Amino acid sequence: MQSKLLKKTNIQVKVSENEAKHAIETILKWIGEDPTREGLIDTPKRVVESFKEYFSGYLEDPSQVLQRTFTETSGYQDMVLLKDIKLYSHCEHHMAPIQGVAHIAYYPNTKVVGISKLARVVEIYSKRLQIQERLTSEIANSINFTLKPKGVAVMIEANHSCINNRGINQKDAKMKTHTLMGCFRNDPEISRRFFQLVI
Ligand SMILES: [Zn+2]
Repeated sequence: MQSKLLKKTNIQVKVSENEAKHAIETILKWIGEDPTREGLIDTPKRVVESFKEYFSGYLEDPSQVLQRTFTETSGYQDMVLLKDIKLYSHCEHHMAPIQGVAHIAYYPNTKVVGISKLARVVEIYSKRLQIQERLTSEIANSINFTLKPKGVAVMIEANHSCINNRGINQKDAKMKTHTLMGCFRNDPEISRRFFQLVI
């Protein structure tokens, strides 16, 4: 059965790989290129292969990744923080790259999760079309939902190609978002420690 965290899409019509390749070919023609020239002949195929990688997160379920937990922590009760998790996503408005880092912290209740799994959750949600606000809260919600910790904090700092390299052309503008849940939201001392550790 599909978990609640597996992305539900509204796609009704299954598009074949060939149709996707033709769409790329059409875009090549539209920008004034000749898709039959040597350098471009395999480009539609390569783009489709890249897209499979960029958007593989639709096929993965973060709750499965977080399922394996550990309880033997010798009573560890403090914050667990994984900092500087690299993320690469695409904005849903322009399909332009979003590049940055995520910081995830949680206060365990009874169980902890292998730290690589936190990075995997970032990867799965990043490999879908996103806006940074939703990406931030989806990561926090999935950890909260599966681990049931005392609190979760997620912060993302990212560059958005769609404003850095086009449109308003703000080369160095960086977006920061955070979601605080549980004790990170209710206890100012805990949230202060989190921001101190990640900034
Ligand atoms: Zn955009």
